[in-house]
Amino acid sequence: MNILLIGSGGREHALAWAISASPLCDKLFVAPGNPGTDQIARNVDLKVSDHAAVIDFCGKENIGLVVVGPEAPLVAGLADDLGTAGIKCFGPKKFAAQLEGSKGFTKDICANYGIPTAAYGRFRDKAAALTYLESHGAPIVIKADGLAAGKGVTVAMDMETARAAVEDIFAAKFGSAECVIEEFLEGEEASFFVLTDGKNALPLATAQDHKRVGDGDTGPNTGGMGAYSPAPCMTPALCQEALDRIVKPTIGALSDMGHPYVGVLYAGLILTTDGPKLIEYNCRFGDPEAQVLMMRLKDDLVTLMLACCDGTLDKVSARWFDDVALTVVMCARGYPGDVEKGTEIRGLEGASAMEGVEIFHAGTAAKNGVIVANGGRVLNVTARGRTVKEARERAYAAVDRIDWPEGFCRRDIGWRALARED
Ligand code: AMP
Repeated sequence: MNILLIGSGGREHALAWAISASPLCDKLFVAPGNPGTDQIARNVDLKVSDHAAVIDFCGKENIGLVVVGPEAPLVAGLADDLGTAGIKCFGPKKFAAQLEGSKGFTKDICANYGIPTAAYGRFRDKAAALTYLESHGAPIVIKADGLAAGKGVTVAMDMETARAAVEDIFAAKFGSAECVIEEFLEGEEASFFVLTDGKNALPLATAQDHKRVGDGDTGPNTGGMGAYSPAPCMTPALCQEALDRIVKPTIGALSDMGHPYVGVLYAGLILTTDGPKLIEYNCRFGDPEAQVLMMRLKDDLVTLMLACCDGTLDKVSARWFDDVALTVVMCARGYPGDVEKGTEIRGLEGASAMEGVEIFHAGTAAKNGVIVANGGRVLNVTARGRTVKEARERAYAAVDRIDWPEGFCRRDIGWRALARED
């Protein structure tokens, strides 16, 4: 079967790595891809927002499955248009993708189905939002309703910050002038991933990421500075609770609404003293969590994805290597603010040849035969090991082999898991 993968980040390089290893995959195309995917697949210059062009390409290249990496094409309805054209798509249709596309949509499902989440109010009116703020006080969390590339959330520890966040949203700084204001939850954050065909849910291995830019989980939030799998905090009992109380009722809700969810559902949780609570859904794999999950997946990814599309997920299972996988994200200096592009990166070959190491490209470009930085998050240096300690040592040994003075990374990825191991 020929497969088209949409996206260009580290997540997509890791997915391409797993898909290209599948016995079911003949040709793999990635649109637009990056220099890493270019080594294992064919990068194609397709305008993904032009759904007719994507469908046309699928016809010409006899594509049997489209895998959508990022959320934006799903929220824009790419899976709907592919479905109408009779092309299988791993990823939810527009209605179901609102789980990520609209915080209010998700909160309303939680309210209607008794799914544990932070108490909230949903506002289209600034005055009402400000009144709610005053009556609840800080700490409090303010979220813009639409997709905001991770930037629309303010965790306000004081009222001044909270009021400013509401003002920003109603000045349409994040697109939609609608917001959700919710209770501040305390606890460790964890990610929980399941595959679903709309009826059945197959939990994947656990993973945890580091969102803050600085060591010790300090500084501003980012797209993710590193991740590891398994996540020791997600015990089997907590996974079962998250599955039964959060994920399964959500899948059931969408099915009840006549819009079954197909693809990977990623629940962002806070592990409170009252059990896991949902803070957000994403309608795609996490980046960098996909990188560590793909390193540990023993079974064939394409078989699992097709089972989601075909409604046969109850017939398959997913097995995982016992090894720990850990990824360190290397960023261009200045990230998550403005970064310099075009700086040269050397030593990738030597680093990726090290035992247990895979380097997934994200914001890189190939220029005159050399690899240069072309974004904020640039490389995912990923390693497997028997323990967190071993995986981490391998990953940082590979990081240290990479010659890129203009880059930086956190030096403490996996610190919580490492502390639990000791
Ligand atoms: P979200 O985009 O909804 O995942 O929010 C981004 C980040 O804000 C999360 O990863 C959490 O660190 C934090 N956050 C979101 N909602 C809450 C909440 N209700 N209580 C505490 N922190 C939150």
